[in-house]
Amino acid sequence: MDRVDILIKNGLIVTIDKDMQIIEDGAVAIKNGNIVDVGLTKEIDLKYNSDKTINASSKIVMPGLINAHTHSGMTYFRGLADDLPLDRWLNKYIWPTEAKFLSEEFIYNAVLHSAAEMVKNGIVLFNDMYFFGKQCGEAASRVGIRAIIGEVVLDSPVANCTNPEQIIDYSVNQHKEFEKDELIEYSIAPHSIYACCKETLQLSAETARNNNMLLHIHVSETKKEIEDCIKNNSKPPIEYLHDIGFLSEDVLSAHGIWVNENEMKLLREKNVSIAITTESDLKLASGFAPMKEYLENGVNVCLGTDGVASNNNLDILEEMDFTSKLQKAYNQDPTFLPAIDIVRMCTINSAKAFKKDSEIGSIEIGKKADIILINKSQLDTIPMYNVYSHLVYTISSYYVKDVIINGKIVMENRKLVNVDEAEIIDRANYYKKKIINGL
Ligand SMILES: [Zn+2]
Repeated sequence: MDRVDILIKNGLIVTIDKDMQIIEDGAVAIKNGNIVDVGLTKEIDLKYNSDKTINASSKIVMPGLINAHTHSGMTYFRGLADDLPLDRWLNKYIWPTEAKFLSEEFIYNAVLHSAAEMVKNGIVLFNDMYFFGKQCGEAASRVGIRAIIGEVVLDSPVANCTNPEQIIDYSVNQHKEFEKDELIEYSIAPHSIYACCKETLQLSAETARNNNMLLHIHVSETKKEIEDCIKNNSKPPIEYLHDIGFLSEDVLSAHGIWVNENEMKLLREKNVSIAITTESDLKLASGFAPMKEYLENGVNVCLGTDGVASNNNLDILEEMDFTSKLQKAYNQDPTFLPAIDIVRMCTINSAKAFKKDSEIGSIEIGKKADIILINKSQLDTIPMYNVYSHLVYTISSYYVKDVIINGKIVMENRKLVNVDEAEIIDRANYYKKKIINGL
């Protein structure tokens, strides 16, 4: 008998391996952060024992979900201003509030909140872009969640940085500082083609490639962005990014709503991944992502929630449901984007986008143990004929019961292990009062 750290037994294992194998009455053995065995409970039972056994008899056991684009430091701006056009929303509310309140302490607390919220929603990794990356990393690490943190690069001075070179240096230093951390890494995150000049974008790409870091950027979000880019550069954003040498497989582009056919081909050719943010795009009326064209062109698609200021939650299961239904209606085709494809987008496709598909994104021997358990035996979740259908159309995040990240239990029966939820709620109310008084 081999002794392991955690033994999950009697569950419905949704592996997301290359054969999309599902194991009924299955078990997973976890040791030193890794999945050391997966199989039928009756077989695993003969080989392993553990002090920590989780009975998953009424649960779906699946790889943790990945949020491919968010701004985790914006928690306290949730619902601050809604139902406004993008420019007024930014100019009148978001940017002035940011200018007044952002600080190391504010971001640490805001990220502690959003990271805790994401764990409760079954998310094990988030790809972030915001300010005060150091505090963001420390907060995510305290919660016990994986994060790829991008300090937003802008040409204009903001928050803790005065110029783009300084922000890029800061990102590289952070990346080095967290090199041995198994959960946290840093990307280089130029905000967009309209907030960064050609030289800033090129310096970002060059520095990322020299330091083996990922790139994270907003691309083709609004019609105005396309029109301005054509006016200034005689070509749309993705063609522009291609021509200046920015595009490569290390790039994660968020939004990607207004993309022409040639740009689709460039994304495929350069293996750029796209994070679609349906709920935020709908709320800001930015448009409908051309999902069908992405998939026809073989572009790797992931899903992201965007920040809570525009979503207004960090619920990736809800995002999966919305995206599937919206795309069916938009394409007038109920057979388009079946549930199984959506589930892949938020697990293995996202892992691939972040060059982590050999480590996470599926339940397979040798991979890191990033696993969530979801209750499937509630009144409103039975009967169940197809688990992918359930994950996309039936189950809400409240049914996520346990979350294991890097082999450690981070949430057990909906109780967060590393942070005090009541304290986080108190702090949110404290900041709300401060923001109201300061506006
Ligand atoms: Zn965004």
